[in-house]
Amino acid sequence: MAEKLKNYIGGEWVESTAADYIPVENPATCEVLAECPESTAEDVDMAVQAAAEAFEEWRSTPVLSRAQYMHHFKNLIEDRFEEIARIAVEENGKTLDEARGEIRRGIESIDFAMGVPFLMRNDGVEDISSGIDETTVRQPVGVYAAITPFNFPVMVPLWFLPTAITCGNTFIVKPSPQTPLSMQIVYELLDELDMPEGVVNLVQGGIEAADAILKHPGIAGISFVGSSPVAKKIYEVGTAHGKRVQAQGGAKNYIAVLPDANMESSVRNILGAAYGCAGQRCLAAAVAVGVGDAYDQLRDELVKQVSNLRVGYGLDETTQMGTVVSAQAKERIESMIQKGVDEGASVVVDGRNKAVDGYENGIFVGPTILENVTPEMTVAREEIFGPVLSLMKADSFDEAVDIINASHFGNAASLFTSNGKFAREFKYRVRAGNIGINIGVAAPSASFPFGGQKDSFFGDLHGQGSDAIEFYTDRKIVIERWI
Ligand code: NAD
Repeated sequence: MAEKLKNYIGGEWVESTAADYIPVENPATCEVLAECPESTAEDVDMAVQAAAEAFEEWRSTPVLSRAQYMHHFKNLIEDRFEEIARIAVEENGKTLDEARGEIRRGIESIDFAMGVPFLMRNDGVEDISSGIDETTVRQPVGVYAAITPFNFPVMVPLWFLPTAITCGNTFIVKPSPQTPLSMQIVYELLDELDMPEGVVNLVQGGIEAADAILKHPGIAGISFVGSSPVAKKIYEVGTAHGKRVQAQGGAKNYIAVLPDANMESSVRNILGAAYGCAGQRCLAAAVAVGVGDAYDQLRDELVKQVSNLRVGYGLDETTQMGTVVSAQAKERIESMIQKGVDEGASVVVDGRNKAVDGYENGIFVGPTILENVTPEMTVAREEIFGPVLSLMKADSFDEAVDIINASHFGNAASLFTSNGKFAREFKYRVRAGNIGINIGVAAPSASFPFGGQKDSFFGDLHGQGSDAIEFYTDRKIVIERWI
């Protein structure tokens, strides 16, 4: 019998009031790893109460002490780094190196949070009027919650929790019920820090718990990452309930390749961007647009090199691409490939029905390349979120930019070129929040906000960087006269 996961509320591991549990499966073996509770509004309410009770003590804990907790937190994660990576692989299906990479990125967010004592400083002016001084102070706001996706079960919660609590807020994480185990370990480490009870809370579950978070009057703000329809709902319902909301959504990322690009490194980058994490990244390359003469070379090199990718179990160190997350995901991806064919695309490399020796139950989709894709096709417009790269032709740089800007998503876009003028034009004109120039996956580091435009982001203050400080604090203006 697989372990029934508990919630972490007010410094204790407590059983959920859930009637239903969701099996958490290893997508490479279909072994049930644990049972995740469908936590209820009552569980969320308990977490909010614990977080609200902890708030006053926590906000008056000196900011330098709050930052010191992050120092210890980082060390504890480093000590159990490999164990966390293996669990992320088991529950998600990615490769060990990908899991290690996401934990490293998560640690960078903890590093950033250690700078909060500096980042929370503010300004002021003496003698704004005669004998009157005016200053601003930044204060924490209250209880925040994060609702996070399956694809980066360690990194995404760490984009938010460390900065939010170091700013003096208290916090609740609701991970994806598909990948709840990584946070279970991370919370074991948070428990070891001996912060005041209730500063950090974990509620496992799905839509019921998320809906309760959206409407709970005790929650001041929500950081969300997931698909666009859900991001839109979270933004609309959350703000209607008076909350601050930052909601990062889905994507359809385009990569344009000009004839003057270094083809060898462009193809290497595009392969990593399209097939890393089996294409289940919000920054995954979904469409490669070959401009003019670049197209044939790009196509031939991609087709040649993609066959060398070793697909297998993520815990096998030689694996370069793991499984997709679930049988439903595989079904969705394969039906999107078929839709592409039905709408006129041709499958040059077909990853459907992929089998891997020794993992007969594994939920694999092999790397796939679609050709003759045009902008109006579903595969060019909608997120597939799997290892499928669509190829398109453009006659000119301007046409490539128009194709990219026609997308209703705006998460990321990249250009491969050796021409500075085109690079500048691309940065200037493309409507996407994260731009890569000769970079396949334009992932902002922790000290920069994570961009996102159009249907890829709902809100105004983004995750990470200076936006995070704005999001997790409020400014108070103090006007004083003592003489
Ligand atoms: P998802 O939208 O299905 O789920 C995300 C979270 O929302 C989960 O915690 C889930 O339990 C909850 N949820 C799902 N449906 C809900 C509903 N109807 N009401 C309330 N809550 C609900 O996303 P996913 O499949 O876990 O993750 C993949 C998606 O996340 C992709 O679209 C990907 O592009 C996106 N993503 C975006 C970023 C970014 O930074 N923009 C980063 C990572 C992933």
